[in-house]
Amino acid sequence: MTPFPRRDGALHAESIALSTIAREVGPPVYVYSAGGFRAQARRLREALAPHPDIVDPLIAFAVKANGNRSVLSVLAAEGLGADTVSEGEIRRALAGGVPPDRIVFSGVGKTDAELAFAVATGVRQINVESAPELERLISVAREQSRVPDIAIRVNPAIGAGGHAKITTGGAGDKFGVPVAEALELYARAAASGAVRPAGLACHIGSQITDVAPLRSAFAVMRGLVETLRGEGLAIERLDLGGGLGVPYRPGDPDTPFDAYAEVVAETVRDLDVQLVLEPGRVIAAEAGVLLSRVIQVTERPDGRRFLVLDAAMNDLSRPALYDAEHEVVAVAPDGEGEVIYDVVGPVCETGDTLARGRLLPALRAGDLVAILTAGAYGATMASEYNARPLVPEVLVDGDDWAVIRRRPDPDAFLEREPVAEWLGSTAKS
Ligand SMILES: *Cc1c(COP(=O)(O)O)cnc(C)c1O
Repeated sequence: MTPFPRRDGALHAESIALSTIAREVGPPVYVYSAGGFRAQARRLREALAPHPDIVDPLIAFAVKANGNRSVLSVLAAEGLGADTVSEGEIRRALAGGVPPDRIVFSGVGKTDAELAFAVATGVRQINVESAPELERLISVAREQSRVPDIAIRVNPAIGAGGHAKITTGGAGDKFGVPVAEALELYARAAASGAVRPAGLACHIGSQITDVAPLRSAFAVMRGLVETLRGEGLAIERLDLGGGLGVPYRPGDPDTPFDAYAEVVAETVRDLDVQLVLEPGRVIAAEAGVLLSRVIQVTERPDGRRFLVLDAAMNDLSRPALYDAEHEVVAVAPDGEGEVIYDVVGPVCETGDTLARGRLLPALRAGDLVAILTAGAYGATMASEYNARPLVPEVLVDGDDWAVIRRRPDPDAFLEREPVAEWLGSTAKS
């Protein structure tokens, strides 16, 4: 069942009418369905389950897709771990109830302080992305007299994804070490005695809906496991990253769960490795919407109509950043014909166009719309551009719902900004 069903024409999140949330919390607001997160986690697990070579995989949810601690807590209760890329995300995962031994720490530029925090926390594995990072981690680990498990993140020189800016596995991308250097780095880690190399990792991109590039990249990883083992190095884990895509618009391909599971199973066949996956978008995207109110409809003499919403590019930046398309729907259409709109926000940039040329029911000021598939890379990428406060987040679970991030007090902006003393009376404190 969809997490956002229509009942008597009105869009709901599970059992709760979105109009109720709009009335009580006020738009714009992100609304998430707990059942939606769980359903996607289960679909992934069920796709992997029939494959005998996949035993007890660690499914580490990519916190950057949706880092709200209540959301992480729903996923932790489903048995998911967390893939993190900063100390802040590790802290969020812990706050959501993810045990340290299910937290993976990835990222291309971890600071010494972040590495020290991860080592002290006792995360399951630190994915090392370069030779200088390995040397820094070795020093940090020696200082704490702890021996963290690491994986070496490899750049398989095969990128993929829904947009160039979210492709990470290409030879020219900043992520991971080239295949040719992986052996030397792994051997260096093993010889150091300060870290324990447990395996290899990769992550080639995001919003991938065709498994062919994954198959090619994973074949490189499998080959590398065999090469390193041939050199006498132990490989216990293989982390194949995230990247699985979701449909954003009608007609987009469905998430290829089964084909993906097959490619993953082929990759680990007879290798006897523990599988780690780092899905973000596929777990969270379809479990969230951005609920917004129409401020006004602006008509041009040429007949063009702008649907001006109270949500904008600072709240959902994917359209501006990646030319991403999200479905926009009326929450309670009243059936007075259909109109083509450019859907825009109030921010002072032409890039603040959320959708172009969309046929929607005729809408008026005050009507509610929902921007769909906004549960991943929505709230986490929001900014306060144009001095717009971060929008609240609401979690629905059946008949229950709660605000899981409050809208900040308008004065909170200013409270964070002490006025430089020497400015004297020119700025009010
Ligand atoms: C972003 C990221 C992910 C998650 O990617 P999705 O496309 O959301 O599944 C996983 N692993 C790493 C290292 C990432 O940077």
